[in-house]
Amino acid sequence: MQLATGTTVITNGTLVDGNGGPPIPNATVVIRDGVIQSAGRESLASTIEPDAERIDAHGGTIMPGLVEAHFHPTYFNVAALEDLDIKYPVEYVTLLAAANAKLALECGYTAARSGGSLFNIDVWLKKAIENGVCPGPRLSASGREICGVGGLMDWNPDFRKIGMDGLVLLVNGPEEARAAVRKLVKDGVEWVKTYPTGDAAAPDTNDHHTLCMTFEEMHAVVQTAHNHKLKVTGHCRATEGIKNALRAGYDAIEHGTFIDAEGLDLLLKRNVPCVPALYFEQASVDRGPEFGLSQRVIDGHKETLEGGAESARRILRAGGRLGMGGDYGFAWNPHGDYAKELSFFVNYVGLTPLEVITCATRTGAEIMGRAHEFGTLEPGKLADVLIVDGDVVRDITLLEDRSRFVAVMQGGVVKAGWEATR
Ligand SMILES: [Zn+2]
Repeated sequence: MQLATGTTVITNGTLVDGNGGPPIPNATVVIRDGVIQSAGRESLASTIEPDAERIDAHGGTIMPGLVEAHFHPTYFNVAALEDLDIKYPVEYVTLLAAANAKLALECGYTAARSGGSLFNIDVWLKKAIENGVCPGPRLSASGREICGVGGLMDWNPDFRKIGMDGLVLLVNGPEEARAAVRKLVKDGVEWVKTYPTGDAAAPDTNDHHTLCMTFEEMHAVVQTAHNHKLKVTGHCRATEGIKNALRAGYDAIEHGTFIDAEGLDLLLKRNVPCVPALYFEQASVDRGPEFGLSQRVIDGHKETLEGGAESARRILRAGGRLGMGGDYGFAWNPHGDYAKELSFFVNYVGLTPLEVITCATRTGAEIMGRAHEFGTLEPGKLADVLIVDGDVVRDITLLEDRSRFVAVMQGGVVKAGWEATR
């Protein structure tokens, strides 16, 4: 991805650097050749060349670009899971994924980790973004997701011929699990997404269903993936399934809905991050009925909302790490609503705005394994910056409103916001 050339100075804003410390008023951020040279209170005006580009933050907030930690660019706002398999050919889904990536960037998300991809689109979307073919967040790519036969993503009897082929690699036993990971290695993914546990969203499983994959299959996935330097995560709601994943050596936990004390210990011991993806549950409860979700499914989402909020609070209070990612790409939880996850964590889960911003910036970059490059506004980091007209720490919902964005910058280049239209 191209870096800016020359010097840019951002002034007249409050700095929230992503490390969780108190905001710094009247801050100045100096960017040289796409990299942050300084970020802080002191005025460095004397050392700035007169022809430097200047951006006025209008008394608003200067913060790191957001990181969406559970992004599905290929999920095209479907009302039913099986639409992912049967509605469009891969060619069209690829175009939709590119549009979703552009939208995410415009929403202030300068980086994202995929939580699973249809076909191998994410890998090529990532390359296209890096090569400047299309705009989007810096991406950590997943591939097809791994699921046990008859598990969460395999509920249709064979005669219906809905195999979810684009979305999942179905496995029976550790040998097939190893083979599936090796296929993903060749595809070039960075994250292996699995389905160890159930979900009320599918007809044959529920939120407490543990064995959509056996421990042996999960362990085989981790061994093979780690052998090839890939990371492993999984859809983990049920208590035992979370512990199986942590014992098998997972690098992250998605949802972590019903974690118990033993699971929390395992999580903290290796400092494994968890991405709760909770606004999805609220959106399913609120808007599910208009898209035909059954009462059984909606009741399931109510339970996971309460359980997931409690687990998220416990993890953060115990010193664990949470990523902010929202599983967007369903009709009731469409792309573009990404920052609703952040407001939800403040207004419903009870985190402070600064805690949520740190989760959504620094921790997101850590999950991607790229915290040395971005995620905070500090000297030496890439200038992935979001400038918002308004005090985000006082009103986190400002992040939901793109019309308030002065600039979304990647590597010092203004990609969206009012500044982009000057
Ligand atoms: Zn997901």
